[in-house]
Amino acid sequence: MSFLEKTKRFAFLSIGYTLVTNTSSMDPLERLTALFEKFPGIGPRQANRFVQFLLRSSPSLRRELVSALQGLNSGVQQCTQCMRFQAGKDSLCTICRNPHRNNRVVTIVATDTDLAALERSGSYNGYYFVLGGLVTLAGDKNPSLHTQQFLDSLSSRTNQGLEEIILAFPANPEGDATAGFIREMLSHSNDQLLKITSLGRGLSTGSELEYADPDTIRSALESRK
Ligand SMILES: [Zn+2]
Repeated sequence: MSFLEKTKRFAFLSIGYTLVTNTSSMDPLERLTALFEKFPGIGPRQANRFVQFLLRSSPSLRRELVSALQGLNSGVQQCTQCMRFQAGKDSLCTICRNPHRNNRVVTIVATDTDLAALERSGSYNGYYFVLGGLVTLAGDKNPSLHTQQFLDSLSSRTNQGLEEIILAFPANPEGDATAGFIREMLSHSNDQLLKITSLGRGLSTGSELEYADPDTIRSALESRK
């Protein structure tokens, strides 16, 4: 590729990038709609419905929304041990600080929502680690995954009695790819004493932990292998 072609390509990519991400030049309605469209599962029509709802809602609701969003910046941080988001200033979350949990098991989940689903089921009392997403099927190593943080935490977890790592990813191709990736990663660092299991397929194919009922989660935990 010539220098000119490279320059043109860069300019084209830059313009594309600007179109996708720069919302500051839009009018307020377009801007908010474009921001809502970035939310998972939200298309242009739903984004527009949210904006219309806010236009018709009271100024106090809009002020509360602005204040709540600002609170996410100032009052929420990630637990340094399990990487889940938590309100407050403590470096460890309430689960990681709880000495009565079972330190022989740690469950790796993709998201905070999956962690919440396992907690709600009431059938798990070990610790957690939030990976921060899933491996994509294109085989891209998702740079936002906290794999290194988990590896770094392994020796102290093992010293505290860890015996088993449970992989609790969604029963779908991305979940399977992530489980394979983690098993491969651990095979290089695991001292072979740790048992690595995956949730049983009581969870139907394609279902996500987030939507599973407590009985299904309990059965998936009991049938892990
Ligand atoms: Zn934690």
